[in-house]
Amino acid sequence: MLIICSKCKTQGVVDNSKLHDNGRTVNCNKCNYTFVVMTEYIDISEITYEVGRHLKSISNYSKDNLYDEVNRVIVDKCNALERTKHNCLEIFYKRAEAYYGLGIYDLALRDLEKGIILQPRFAKLYNLAGELYFKIGDHGKAIENLNVSASLDLYNIDPMINRARVYIKLGKYELAKQDIDRILRLDPQSQAALLLRFTVNLFICNRESTCSDASVMVVNLLDMVNKLESNTDV
Ligand SMILES: [Zn+2]
Repeated sequence: MLIICSKCKTQGVVDNSKLHDNGRTVNCNKCNYTFVVMTEYIDISEITYEVGRHLKSISNYSKDNLYDEVNRVIVDKCNALERTKHNCLEIFYKRAEAYYGLGIYDLALRDLEKGIILQPRFAKLYNLAGELYFKIGDHGKAIENLNVSASLDLYNIDPMINRARVYIKLGKYELAKQDIDRILRLDPQSQAALLLRFTVNLFICNRESTCSDASVMVVNLLDMVNKLESNTDV
């Protein structure tokens, strides 16, 4: 299985047979950073094939029900796999993600709690829990979970992005800015961080910074549009 070190971004391969159902702590052989990875029993190409097959029977589908369809197939796969693997981190995590996407938050939380019991050091579980609590308006629990996630994997920007979003929602712009600065130190190209900084500056009426971030974003957006147009020409 291919893994990427969250600190130095070096790619490495871990022998599948050496992975456990409750994940495994790996050590980057370049920078020596330690982090937890999960197994990959669930084959994404199989899921896209299945979704394609289902879509043929839906005559009137939109992007929204395509997304729902993918999540439903993932739930089905996880349930089928669980018949032979009873306590598996990947099943709990992937199914929680799918339930979250489908808006079935109680079942998503139930899977996240099971995952945390199995592997309390897997940062992604707390990040997803934080995102979910933010979605349902429990900002206290959102921050609590995102703090844990950020402390378990210091180089992963996802919990910082989510935490900055919660802080902006709460009007705590200074705290949001601290997270945004951290993200940009780790990934100076982060579009999410740029957008968050733009939003903060807009709220605190920092006209100069808002304009400079906006101009960078417009350039990036035009670049994206150009790429899309050149793709559709073919
Ligand atoms: Zn590394």
